[in-house]
Amino acid sequence: MLTAFAGPEGAPRSVPIVLHADAPDATWIAAQLENANALFAPAGLSFSIAETVPSTPARPLASIDDRAARDALADDVAMSPRGEPAQVNVFLTDRLIDVDDPPSERMGVHWHRRRHRAVHYVIVSRRAWPTTLAHELGHYFGNPHSRTPNNIMSYERDGTTPPFFDAAQLARIRSHARRYVRAGLEAR
Ligand SMILES: [Zn+2]
Repeated sequence: MLTAFAGPEGAPRSVPIVLHADAPDATWIAAQLENANALFAPAGLSFSIAETVPSTPARPLASIDDRAARDALADDVAMSPRGEPAQVNVFLTDRLIDVDDPPSERMGVHWHRRRHRAVHYVIVSRRAWPTTLAHELGHYFGNPHSRTPNNIMSYERDGTTPPFFDAAQLARIRSHARRYVRAGLEAR
C-alpha cells in the first residue's frame, strides 16, 4: 500500500526536533537537516528544530563516554501521556565514544535507554558527516543497516549516486511515523 504519511495535499508532515546542544553551528545543523529532509521527503516527513536546549551540569554534552552517560540523557526527553517521546530528541556532543570499542569514536547513534526502552533518541557528534543525522533518523524510524552501497543505512559509499532510502525502507518509515504519532509524537 502506498498511502503516504503526508499532511494536506501531500505536503510532508513536519516533525519537531528538540536539539540539545551548546552553541550549535547553524550552518552544520542546516546541512544535516537539508540532507535528512531530502531523504525523508518521499516518506512524507520533514524535520525542523522546534527548540534548542543547553546542557546542564548534571548532563554535560561535551563528551558521552559510556552507556550510563547515554542513558542519562533520557531524563531530558519529554514523553507523551501515551508513552512516546513527544518530539524527536537530538543530542549534539563534541565526542561520542564507541561503547563497544572505546576509546574510538562514533559519528552518531540511535539509543534506547536500557531500562526503559520506550525512551529513545539520537546522539550526534559535531564531527559527523552531513548525512549522519539522516542515517540515525533512519534508525529512529525503524530501519536497520543495509548492505547496499550508497544506501543511507549502509556504511559503504562509492560516490556514484547520492544516498537514498529504498521503497521498503520508506514504507517502514511511514509505518513507524504513523505508530509514533498514534503514541503521542507531535507531527503537523
Ligand atoms: Zn547506523
